[in-house]
Amino acid sequence: MSYIIWQSLALGVLILVMGLTGAILLVAINREEDREETGLQKKLYLVPLDEVSRGLADWLGSKLSSKFRFKINTSMVAKLPEESYSASRDSYFSSIILNKLQFLKASEDEYILAVTEEDLFTPNTDYVFSSSDGLAGVAIVSAQRLKPEFYGLPQSDEVVRMRAMKRAVHEIGHLLTLDNCDENSCVMYSSKTISDLDYQSDKFCHGCKLELTLPVKVPKT
Ligand SMILES: [Zn+2]
Ligand SMILES: [Zn+2]
Repeated sequence: MSYIIWQSLALGVLILVMGLTGAILLVAINREEDREETGLQKKLYLVPLDEVSRGLADWLGSKLSSKFRFKINTSMVAKLPEESYSASRDSYFSSIILNKLQFLKASEDEYILAVTEEDLFTPNTDYVFSSSDGLAGVAIVSAQRLKPEFYGLPQSDEVVRMRAMKRAVHEIGHLLTLDNCDENSCVMYSSKTISDLDYQSDKFCHGCKLELTLPVKVPKT
């Protein structure tokens, strides 16, 4: 009699363990599917911070959609926060702007790339072409020092766009956890001057491509 009870108990435990294992496996598989889906649904908002930057933001959005597997959205607008302005520098403190931008995000699957005409600075540098906060998933590009006329040269939208593209890809690289790169032709090189920026390309070097953690459309070489 007791043998039968023990046998039933053992069978019961076996069924329970099998059921639990199945449930755990199912959860694991579902999690994997979730990750796959959210990976494809990551959104990048191109946000102009002034009316003049609308055209550049839209252009960057259309070009970036062929470079990265983001859903590009250009429907959001925002203003530069007044408290980020420094009258003595006639420039805007990029960290304050980045801090504010993260409140526009609805989820971790959203990134923001803001575009402005105004000059940007950090406490350590007189100016930056662009800036980002990788953890917050927000970035900003300033067109101010990308314009040839800033250097006394003839105006060119084409030149501004090419330079802005490099800065946008660089900051998106940071959002995708890449660090600055020592290779001065790589888009992740930290260009300090306009000639550095003109020398570098808008592409990731081989080493940076390998470091990327999100799917990026990389042409075969
Ligand atoms: Zn950088
Ligand atoms: Zn690199």
